[in-house]
Amino acid sequence: MPRGDFDSLTRALATTQSRREAVRVLAGAAAGAVLAYLGVGCGKDDPAGPAPPQDQCPTPSTCGDRQYCNEAQTCLCVKSAEGYNRCGAIPTTCHVQLCQTSADCAGLGEGFFCDTPNSGCCTDPPADLPRCIAPCGDVDNNPGTVCDGDPLSTGSIQAAAAAIAGGATEVDLSPGGCYHYRRTVVNGFVAAEVITADGKRVAGWDHTPTQSNGTRDSDLDGFSEWLALITRDAAGQTQKVTVTEYDPTTRTPARRRTQTITGANEMHVLVEAAPDGGALEKVAEYDAPRLQEVGLDPLAAAARAVTPAVAQGTPGPCGVVPDASCPPGLADAARQALEQAAAEGSDCLAAHGLAAEAASLGVNYFMVDIVCASSLPAESGPAAVCGPDVSNPNERFPIYINPNSFPSDPAARRSVLFHEMLHTVFTEDHDPALNAAPPDIRRENDRVRACNSMCMNPNATKCDCATCLQKSKCEPPCDSFQGCATKNEAGICLCPSRMNYYPSFTQCTVDCPSGLACFGFQCRKVSNPCMG
Ligand SMILES: [Zn+2]
Repeated sequence: MPRGDFDSLTRALATTQSRREAVRVLAGAAAGAVLAYLGVGCGKDDPAGPAPPQDQCPTPSTCGDRQYCNEAQTCLCVKSAEGYNRCGAIPTTCHVQLCQTSADCAGLGEGFFCDTPNSGCCTDPPADLPRCIAPCGDVDNNPGTVCDGDPLSTGSIQAAAAAIAGGATEVDLSPGGCYHYRRTVVNGFVAAEVITADGKRVAGWDHTPTQSNGTRDSDLDGFSEWLALITRDAAGQTQKVTVTEYDPTTRTPARRRTQTITGANEMHVLVEAAPDGGALEKVAEYDAPRLQEVGLDPLAAAARAVTPAVAQGTPGPCGVVPDASCPPGLADAARQALEQAAAEGSDCLAAHGLAAEAASLGVNYFMVDIVCASSLPAESGPAAVCGPDVSNPNERFPIYINPNSFPSDPAARRSVLFHEMLHTVFTEDHDPALNAAPPDIRRENDRVRACNSMCMNPNATKCDCATCLQKSKCEPPCDSFQGCATKNEAGICLCPSRMNYYPSFTQCTVDCPSGLACFGFQCRKVSNPCMG
């Protein structure tokens, strides 16, 4: 997998994730095996013998009765020639090397072992001939993840952005071309965009001056689970962004977010969801700034870097006045961090099944300018992007960085910029009702923060993963993360004048509807129950 040569803690952590998941799956299996083997005592009798294998599991498979080592059912429990039950990869063919002991399989690589007759159902060669089984290695929780070995890289997105800027209409997004982008340009106007993954359409946009229609199909089944409609006025100013997400199984609407622009830096947000597969119903409604900030994420609270510049010039999107220039070197360093964040973050999203979002991260990168703005509001923190319409190939957009507070630590820079890029991919804002919640709770219940954490925080939790992927925290890949900070059912009062976080859902249901102004209003649960 092309990695680039940057020394990246977060990269190491991100790649460690699947290994950690694997180790946990195997460790769980091994714990069961220890119980099963208690009393056998072969280790005691042979202290100098080889150490028992680390990949043991409790119950071996037989033909017609497969016993899996992982929930994704990619890894099989098999009785080895030495008598241990071991986790092995499911053979994709019966024509593998035959053996008598695991030593016979050593030449195939580390961890290969010899099975026992009738572990599987092969007829050619017959099932009663033992054969070599590959180790499970990293358990792939997304076995169907497309473009697995060809993620976006800093080099590939730089090259693609340069080619697009030079007028190209078709570029590889990843070094091997598995992710590919093409656009249709009519009289200098980008009218259509298509992103493919392994030759299949994973995302696309159709644009007119006043409307953009977007689709995404991360699982490449031909059904778009993500639909976006953006409307603009005759002057090209965004009026409304509506994103509807569908349940990939039932193909019914699961969530919808409608952001209506009400001012230069103001919007009205309506969030609807269909919790039990029923009709969409309102779960949140609020006014929020369009300036999507990182706020006080833990990783952003790093040392301050550079001296401030004087604010000058004309206002950009969201009314932010840029500085006349960035402090020397800062814009270049920020752009480098942005490239790394886009590549690493894209790899992470793709590895967790968000192929369309992963590729869109690279495409949105084409249009980003790093703009220094010491005048960013203090509550915006070190960086901000003016949402929600930032998927427009006909208009570049700024990521504002505040030289006074932009972190100096490279990993923190990447985290901050990945956060802003996530806003461009999900078009999700931050529910202000969560501002009153403890930071961990806020992060776990906010999709941009949760995805940022899942990909860049070594202490990411099951709830970060579940909120990012809109999946259950109790199933792969989320079940292998750390325990959630969100443990009790909290609540958010949906009454506009009392839109606030309550640590106790019960207390919320008491306080929220009290008084005339909030009569009849209910609480939204802040929790991450195990679904299904
Ligand atoms: Zn944000």
